[in-house]
Amino acid sequence: MNTFAIIFVTVIVTRTLWDILLDWLNLRYTLSPTSTVPEVLKDKLTMEDFAKAKSYLKDRTYFGILSKLVSLAVDLVLILKIFPLLENLVSSKGSVMLQAILFFALYYLIAKIVDLPFRVYSIFVIEQKYGFNTTTPRLFVRDEIVSTLLTAAIGFPIIAIVVLLLKYPVWWWQLSIIAILFVVFFSFIQPILIAPLFYKFTKLEDEELEKKINQILEKAKIKIPNIFKMDASKRTKKQNAYVTGIGKSRRLVLFDTILSYSHEEILAVVAHELGHHVRRHLPKLIILNALFIAFVLYLTNWTYSFINSAKIFGVSQPYTNFAYAFMFISSLMFFIEPLINLFSRKMEYEADEYSAKLLGTPEPLISSLKRLVKENLSNPNPMPLYKAWHYSHPAPEERIKHLLEMKI
Ligand SMILES: [Zn+2]
Repeated sequence: MNTFAIIFVTVIVTRTLWDILLDWLNLRYTLSPTSTVPEVLKDKLTMEDFAKAKSYLKDRTYFGILSKLVSLAVDLVLILKIFPLLENLVSSKGSVMLQAILFFALYYLIAKIVDLPFRVYSIFVIEQKYGFNTTTPRLFVRDEIVSTLLTAAIGFPIIAIVVLLLKYPVWWWQLSIIAILFVVFFSFIQPILIAPLFYKFTKLEDEELEKKINQILEKAKIKIPNIFKMDASKRTKKQNAYVTGIGKSRRLVLFDTILSYSHEEILAVVAHELGHHVRRHLPKLIILNALFIAFVLYLTNWTYSFINSAKIFGVSQPYTNFAYAFMFISSLMFFIEPLINLFSRKMEYEADEYSAKLLGTPEPLISSLKRLVKENLSNPNPMPLYKAWHYSHPAPEERIKHLLEMKI
């Protein structure tokens, strides 16, 4: 093996082992005899709830560790054996463009097939065991087919553009511009064209709730053209709400599973979502995303040029070298996840503050957070390092403390 291959393998192995170590330490932390329900959650979360949350965490952690080990093994085989093999297989088939499409389609299929048993187990065994799953096998198969076709529809044009650009020595900034335009375009079409392939969006049937939401929108001086109920209950019992889309496609979406909450609790969740909007979190995220894409592609371009001239892994086609370079840089990006999550958690606190101020009280948001922890079996007591690395939202305990400490 040459030096680069050794570095590549080291990065992927280190990444996975560190990830698994974090999972395992987090599990030990939560399961330790001294671990208990945080003070602020004690009125809603019984020891029985905590025991159930711990058992859910244990099942998911063990399963997660196994699937991460398998995924590491698959990545190593891909890098060392399958990529050169795939290139060999497709390199005699027509134009470079066609070869690239075949190469990535086969790569995608291999990854998907390896991942399939894990997804089945996660949904039909673990989620089922804790009463969250409502997906039928038929719906699962349908989702798999639709998402594969969707990936092809989006993926093929992207591959075509990449192949065209790879002819130039420097392509990262051209590809960045196209990728960023695509992200913005996707943000626009996602709610109107993509999400409806999986869910039904209908008007809220609860007119009183709709009236109250409209009053809140007025108070916040926000225009959101559409408020929808989404039939999330067809796949899960977990609860959520979100604001999405740009311009005309902007909408407020409530999972139908959250409609069992009191109106006040729902309004507090809606106000939190509006907080993201008022504080301009979406445009900030798009800018951050754009910088991230440019950064990743710059590094990928650099690595690509290196692999190309060094002729490593015994491959020669531009798309194979690109696959290596992109996979290597993506693996490295795992190590900046804490930085992105730090930024995300800051935004969540801002949205919480906004919700409490708009409603004049933090109480309904606090009560909905307690319900979310209880009903979604979230870990009430995660390890601090694990939260810092993986949590995009502050832990519920921290959000509640923050809300209780703020002055309204
Ligand atoms: Zn949020």
